[in-house]
Amino acid sequence: MKRVVIVSFLCASILLAGYTSSHIGWDSRELSVYRSALERLTGRTVAGTYNVIIASSAGEFSRLSRLGYWFVAATHGDTIYLQPLSLIPDLARTLAHEMSHIFFQRFDLPYWLEEGLVCTITGEWVGREEPLLENIEELDHTGMDFMTYRAYSFSCWRRVGQLLREHGFNELISRFVAAQ
Ligand SMILES: [Zn+2]
Repeated sequence: MKRVVIVSFLCASILLAGYTSSHIGWDSRELSVYRSALERLTGRTVAGTYNVIIASSAGEFSRLSRLGYWFVAATHGDTIYLQPLSLIPDLARTLAHEMSHIFFQRFDLPYWLEEGLVCTITGEWVGREEPLLENIEELDHTGMDFMTYRAYSFSCWRRVGQLLREHGFNELISRFVAAQ
């Protein structure tokens, strides 16, 4: 219950504060390790600069991104939405996660495959454990709560890891985009 009170307090403050607008590009030095991983995995050149909107509160983030306040970041089109930076433990990795989503969107992959590929690039699930979900291909991620989404993302990463042991990126595109 306490969390609800805090969030509604934050919601009440959004009109007084306001977000910060910024930019991030793949040429940033902090992202070079992720860019290299993305280029290695896909065999494609990775470049681009994106708008970044940094919310001043979790409530404002939720309003702007139209996602739950427990997400750390979100992407709509070429714009990345971030929680207040004090709530983001690893900013470079979070930006790399969202920018990798933007990169993969051009291939029109099923979301579970896109999320799994993104987490392969960021390495964010390495050494961590979550419950494994069955049939991730059929799950709708959009209405999930915090714990379920974590398990979903982890399960996507594990599934894509298995696929990448046997198939290259181009094979995955032709297999799963054609199958949609
Ligand atoms: Zn993601």
